Amino acid sequence: MTHIITSLCVRDRGCIDVCPVECMVPGQPVNEWPWIYIDPDTCIDCGACVPECPFAAIFPEDEVPAAYTAKGGEYISNVGLTGTFEGTNHHGHPIHLETTRQLAAGEVVDLTPDIKPNYDFFKGGPGYGAKDSDDGM
Ligand code: SF4
Ligand code: SF4
Repeated sequence: MTHIITSLCVRDRGCIDVCPVECMVPGQPVNEWPWIYIDPDTCIDCGACVPECPFAAIFPEDEVPAAYTAKGGEYISNVGLTGTFEGTNHHGHPIHLETTRQLAAGEVVDLTPDIKPNYDFFKGGPGYGAKDSDDGM
């Protein structure tokens, strides 16, 4: 199994620092790959990244919710969305995402379609090569 980063990710990057096998890669280009991605072949399911995420975006693969109920105010980030998220990441660097939508309280979202992009990123996508163009966001 693996852990999965879902569309609740807004690139805080707090998770990356704690991964003992360095299998978390910031997507590039950001508008095509807006999350951080976990290499499913390398993740050892240690769970260390989960409590580090201030947005609770990381789940064991078999626990990714099919019916996530929004608290209200959180963002999802996905290719094709047109809202903007501005923030500051774990290292104090600015975040600017143009592929987001803010969720309303009580809105129910299926996060299971977010599983496949974690695999696609490393099979046919940029994979570890994205580290070469990492700009810190
Ligand atoms: S800590 Fe959460 S929001 Fe930040 S990059 Fe990791 S998964 Fe995304
Ligand atoms: S579960 Fe552990 S090995 Fe997998 S991505 Fe998170 S920190 Fe890395």
